[in-house]
Amino acid sequence: MDLRNKIRSVQNFPKEGIDFKDITTLLKDKEAFKECIKQMANKFKNEKIDIIVGAEARGFIIGAPLAYELNAGFVPVRKLGKLPSDTIKYEYELEYGTDTLEMHKDAISKGNRVLIVDDLLATGGTSYSVAKMVETLGGEVVGFDFLIELEFLNGREVLKGYKVESIIKY
Ligand code: 5GP
Repeated sequence: MDLRNKIRSVQNFPKEGIDFKDITTLLKDKEAFKECIKQMANKFKNEKIDIIVGAEARGFIIGAPLAYELNAGFVPVRKLGKLPSDTIKYEYELEYGTDTLEMHKDAISKGNRVLIVDDLLATGGTSYSVAKMVETLGGEVVGFDFLIELEFLNGREVLKGYKVESIIKY
């Protein structure tokens, strides 16, 4: 099945000049959603993943079924102030200003084999931040698994040295 034609491109969202890749058209299609998770799982099925880490919000939608498929646990990364217990924080640069991501301190055990998952790789800033938190907690980042990669933004360069997989490239 060609998953590419299930993705909708929306011009000028969330602002002028951005060509937004909308995955809701893929998610609502029962065959396409299943195929997407199957293809993403195949890339890491022999890697003995303990934990999948996904950042809100679309990283949850893809990350949870992928964890189920790979017999792994799921750990959420959230925006500041959403997680109830003790957290570690990571502040990262946006185009204008900064944003802070958080993760529970006890979410990862030393030596856990961790796969970081998101719907889309753009500049790599989000995924890099998640990797640094996982490593601070003693986890081993086995790789990154994306549905979509915007190759012209060179996010792969930011994640150099790690295994990076994606299903659909633009
Ligand atoms: P990065 O940190 O790699 O620059 O941006 C990736 C993050 O932004 C991902 O969490 C992703 O969900 C979101 N993102 C950026 N552009 C798009 C887009 O065109 N479509 C979707 N679905 N998400 C995007």
